[in-house]
Amino acid sequence: MDESGKGHTGDRAAASAAAIMMGIRTAFLAAVSAGLALAQTPRASQSAAEAPQAPLVVRSLDLSAIDKSADPCTDFYQYACGNWIKNNPVPGDQARWVRSISLLQERNLYELWQELARAATKPASPLEKKYGDFFRACMDVAELDKKGLQSLEPALKRVSALNDSKGIAALIGDLAAAGDPAPLFRLDVTPDPKDSKRHILNLSQGGPTLPGRENDIASSRYILKRYQNHILRVFMLAGDTLERAGTETAVVLRIETLLAQPSTNRADSADPAKRFHVLTLADLQELAPDFDFGIYFKQVTVPPVETLNVDNPDYLKTVNRLITSVPVESWRSYFRWHILSEQAGALPKEFRDEDFAFWGGNVAHQEKPAPRWKECTSVTDQAFGDAIARDWVKQNYPPAAKASMERLVAALKNALADEIRTLPWMSDETKKTAERKLAAVRDRIGYPKKWRDYADLRVDRDDFLGNLHRNAVFQRNYLLSTLGKPVDPEEWEMSPTTVEARYAPSMNSLTIPAGLIQSPFFDSVADPGVNFGAIGAVVGHELTHGFDGLGSKFDERGNVRDWLTSDDRKEFAEATSCEVAQYSKFVVLSDDADDQPPVKGNGNLAVAESTADNGGLRIAFRALMDALVAQKKTADGKIDGYTESQRFFLSYAQLSCENQTFFSARQSMSADPHSVGRVQVNTAVQNFEEFGKAFACTKGQPMYPEKACRVW
Ligand SMILES: [Zn+2]
Repeated sequence: MDESGKGHTGDRAAASAAAIMMGIRTAFLAAVSAGLALAQTPRASQSAAEAPQAPLVVRSLDLSAIDKSADPCTDFYQYACGNWIKNNPVPGDQARWVRSISLLQERNLYELWQELARAATKPASPLEKKYGDFFRACMDVAELDKKGLQSLEPALKRVSALNDSKGIAALIGDLAAAGDPAPLFRLDVTPDPKDSKRHILNLSQGGPTLPGRENDIASSRYILKRYQNHILRVFMLAGDTLERAGTETAVVLRIETLLAQPSTNRADSADPAKRFHVLTLADLQELAPDFDFGIYFKQVTVPPVETLNVDNPDYLKTVNRLITSVPVESWRSYFRWHILSEQAGALPKEFRDEDFAFWGGNVAHQEKPAPRWKECTSVTDQAFGDAIARDWVKQNYPPAAKASMERLVAALKNALADEIRTLPWMSDETKKTAERKLAAVRDRIGYPKKWRDYADLRVDRDDFLGNLHRNAVFQRNYLLSTLGKPVDPEEWEMSPTTVEARYAPSMNSLTIPAGLIQSPFFDSVADPGVNFGAIGAVVGHELTHGFDGLGSKFDERGNVRDWLTSDDRKEFAEATSCEVAQYSKFVVLSDDADDQPPVKGNGNLAVAESTADNGGLRIAFRALMDALVAQKKTADGKIDGYTESQRFFLSYAQLSCENQTFFSARQSMSADPHSVGRVQVNTAVQNFEEFGKAFACTKGQPMYPEKACRVW
């Protein structure tokens, strides 16, 4: 196959070949899924006047997207997506544009916006008035411009009163209590790693905005230089002289860089052995004797706990070292920076513009900010997700779709069970454990059985920043209130309109929200090949995560327990090493004169997702064959000139048709475990012999190689 994408370098899309199923991230992070859902302020967007337009309807399988001049056996991605890529450049307010995820997100966002716009003018209930007001306050940029930095005064006053580094614990406790940005630590409530039925408090790093290990952006000198200028300008906008802003910028960068040193790298943050350190409060205090956790927890109103989990004890030691060595005035600059920068979307226009210039322009390489209505819809959705989703779910997820989706998930589980039984690398004893775990997977499909109650969240129609603060406190209090209570398996960590699918090892749960069960992932009138190739492959992908390198370290209840024997693990590593090597051969080239070096695929980073992609495709195909047999059909029947098998593969590939900027591709290839579209599609089909058969390829052609990788 075209290992490098070199044949298409003139084509912006090929160079970018990146981007994953962007939202479809399962990931280990799911374990901290009960994380503090602080509504982030919208990324600087001043295009308040830009009117929402109804987005295009996303069809499921789209034959007009196909590039018939390409040979499916040579470059299947080009064949399935070529015309779409040509006709769908990246919109100015995006860095990456994926035919499935992006288009569907746009559609869902537009529909939520309609609901919010109505609720902001003609609310039909007190709850609608609440989220309508929240949205309206966000949209009122004239009010934000008028207020200036006035709303930040209480927080800035607290910071300027810090006169001893030992007061940092009380300060960030105070800031957090008021809903202000309180960096250094992040508090979560998660399932206990040893007993997933109960909750445990989790303390992790919350802090450096940019610098961080393994971060491609941070290691770029070009970006770091611009980050430095960005900090400087923000301080000057807040009233500093150039000289003073320069001093403050230097100390902020220094603290952020030092804090980033002990950051957990991606592999470690996934590994339960490295991520879970359950400590007593006394042990915790010993790690950072100069940070008074008693005061901090009291301010944040953490209920009494005997133990908590610290995901990276080294980070605490570093914080302590910095508390005792960094001068207090440097700390004041650091906190002031976080208050100014993390809330830019709720500040006057010059702050919003500056925020976009760096994060949107320099980092994401977007041409322009997203219109304000998109940002405000997202922020309101983060705050009131369950409330806004209720009508949406009624309209977009009818009972027939629910029933059909539940059948599909059951079919995928059966196919995976068959797959496990025939796996050559897994021992018989382990297979039994794996089957037990599969049978115990908790399905959370469509929408939660219970909806969140927002009675305690107060909203002021004229005070956007205040609303964000109250929401931050509301969300945290809600989470903290679950400490000491059993984990509720029906509790969702995402809103039902989210375009995402997730397997959470700590709950052994599969979540597929209604937001994803839409075209092009799911189409209730399409033939089975189209649905199994799309949402079927996504479900298959997620399910395999329960049994891969990470999933095999959690048992069927979600407790940390390694259930692979050392021989199994060796065999598994051996099987996946083929994919590591395969992925590492890919290169993404820059598409224009920006003179950036090509980016190589990082096989070790991508292997878990790439294995899940390959497995998901195989399992979905198996489930499709079972379904066709049950319906007394064969895979050879043609619709619109393509057999069911061919439609299955086309539907799969078309989820990943995409365009993106080179910088976005570079970020995906080097720092994102999810593969880029061209790489993902072509790797998955060349590793699956049924593809070559379906398209009558000749053995030895790029998509039908003599030797393929196989784990699942
Ligand atoms: Zn995945």
